[in-house]
Amino acid sequence: MPPASTLPVALAAGDGIGPEIMEAVLSVFRAAGVMDHLSFVDAPMGERTFATGNTSGISDEAVDAVERTGLLFKGPMGTPIGGGGKSINVTLRKKFSAFANLRHFQSLPGVETVFSKAGVPVDFYVVRENIEDTYGGIEHRLTNDVVECKRLISAPGCDQVHRFAFATAARLGITKVTCSHKANIMKMTDGLFLERFRHVAKDHPSIETNDVIIDALCMNLVLRPDAYQMIVLPNLQGDIVSDLAAGLVGGLGFAPSANIGEGVAIFEAVHGTAPDIAGKGVANPTSLLLSGLIMLRHIGLAKQAAIINNALLATLESGIHTGDVKGDKPPVRTMAFAEAVAANLGRVPTSCRPSVVTSHDRVVHASPPRPSSYRLRRTFEQITSHVCGADVYIGTILPPFELAAKLQSICEGGPFKLTMLSSRGTQVWPSGSVYTEVVDYFRARFELKDGAMLGRLGQMPTVKLLEKVAEKLEVTDFQPLRIYDGAPGFSLAQGQ
Ligand code: NAD
Repeated sequence: MPPASTLPVALAAGDGIGPEIMEAVLSVFRAAGVMDHLSFVDAPMGERTFATGNTSGISDEAVDAVERTGLLFKGPMGTPIGGGGKSINVTLRKKFSAFANLRHFQSLPGVETVFSKAGVPVDFYVVRENIEDTYGGIEHRLTNDVVECKRLISAPGCDQVHRFAFATAARLGITKVTCSHKANIMKMTDGLFLERFRHVAKDHPSIETNDVIIDALCMNLVLRPDAYQMIVLPNLQGDIVSDLAAGLVGGLGFAPSANIGEGVAIFEAVHGTAPDIAGKGVANPTSLLLSGLIMLRHIGLAKQAAIINNALLATLESGIHTGDVKGDKPPVRTMAFAEAVAANLGRVPTSCRPSVVTSHDRVVHASPPRPSSYRLRRTFEQITSHVCGADVYIGTILPPFELAAKLQSICEGGPFKLTMLSSRGTQVWPSGSVYTEVVDYFRARFELKDGAMLGRLGQMPTVKLLEKVAEKLEVTDFQPLRIYDGAPGFSLAQGQ
């Protein structure tokens, strides 16, 4: 039994190479004295849990361990291809509201990259929103030819990730935070992400901020990665940029990751289970070790994290490496690499800046109590909204002008008039270009007729309109249009 005063942490070694690299990391932790502060609680999940018919891949025992400890240290988990099994990583992040994904990308000694050869140091963090965006996984087939994915961005979701980014920047001594987005195209969703970034930034006047469109960011990262200290992004864009960034520092084997929420924090390697080398004892444990170091810093063990980090850097600097890394010396096996790191505890690297070793360690983590029910998060509470129309989406192969004539006759006598038809977001009626190719899915926009009073109607007339359209045509979806504090809560069609 571990000493009663140790902090419990749920542990899932993972699948494939997971158990090998986890054992290597734990051997370094033992050598560094980390186990004087931590004790691990087994959290069964992954392939062995999927095999019991549990389609989440996460056992009840594991859920209980994570809820009790608020901390999960995990190796990579395999996602069954096909069938009902979902990615455990995505499930865990969403289930426990681990809303921010933090990754650190830094040049490491002994790991040759184009930038290390050019003498350009890479050292920046990516903070990725972890729950919303297209990762809501809300997808539908709308017609024979069209499928959709709903991209949800919420103001509280943006606020949480931006507050986390600025607080982490302040803690790490980062002086500049960049928001990346595609708000020039997705003015409402990415626009909200950017607007909330600017709002939260006001609470951190000592931190410089800027923003960059995602495509420009990708080019800048490849040209001048040293121009960035911390980048905060929506989920999908952050996912892609994270892997791009891993490539800048030598690959996924060197990229640590933490998923942080208010109640639960999950620390994991970025790479997968590497089935091609699983069981051979040759995998690189560096990514998992670095993720473990983020965990140690998160709970207050900054001194031990710095000592282990310096030992790792000194090991890589001495040319000791696993088979996935190019080097002059022959590669070593997973456990031999871990033993070399353990033997270097107390040493510091000479070719790069060592981590500053603080004078003492103190566990500061306290897991908040389990919430008693779902918590509602709100950002804007005092907004007045009025229904001003509806977008009705229709599956049809009718030509636009014929469809428009039909819809105009349907809304005769009611409070709404047809103002626009679009296909794939481009206006095709009342005006448009015959070069615009259409598919079997149209948006019909109905707006209040001139003289109709905004705010008097409520939403029922839009539902009645929907019923009338549905009697004559195949409706695929429906969206009431609202004005929020005088501003339209909907975008215009391309060409409108
Ligand atoms: P992968 O990351 O497992 O492997 C890609 C390549 O990188 C392979 O050649 C592998 O040998 C190599 N590699 C990965 N980690 C390494 C390490 N530590 N040391 C040396 N080489 C390493 O990606 P994949 O093959 O696409 O996915 C395999 C499985 O992992 C899938 O089931 C996937 O769903 C899962 N996966 C899990 C996570 C996670 O748990 N966080 C992340 C990604 C993929």
